[in-house]
Amino acid sequence: MLSLLNPDSLIILQALFKNKKNNWNKIQILKKETLILAEKIKRTGLYNYLKQEKIKIIEKEGGIYSNLIIGASCDLIKKEIYLFLDSLNLLKKKIDFLNFQELKELFIAHEAFHFLKKNKSNFYDEIGAHLFSQNILKLDFYPGILDLIYILN
Ligand SMILES: [Zn+2]
Repeated sequence: MLSLLNPDSLIILQALFKNKKNNWNKIQILKKETLILAEKIKRTGLYNYLKQEKIKIIEKEGGIYSNLIIGASCDLIKKEIYLFLDSLNLLKKKIDFLNFQELKELFIAHEAFHFLKKNKSNFYDEIGAHLFSQNILKLDFYPGILDLIYILN
């Protein structure tokens, strides 16, 4: 049906499967740093943190393009997180282990991490954002796999 992954996920999967020790060690360090950040935000509360930082959550239609599907994105300057409802609805149809609210929260937590790190496109930050949202929502799976679910079927 739909045919493409978020290109960031491909890079992450490449790093993980290439079995490069250096990459792996960096990911372990990142994991520790990310868990410390996640604990801090869990104490504050995700939505309290967003409120404190005056970060707005904006729901939009769309997110589905011919070669790309985006569930959420953010603008660090405007302090806005965008949730793309068409894309999230599509994802929700394919999974039953999260309800729609949890799914939204997963994407919000992911984007919140980019605000915490003040960096949107760094390769390791993308892994960090997934680990962060995994921890915030106490998921027993790495949320990066949701990108793969888009291409199933
Ligand atoms: Zn991201």
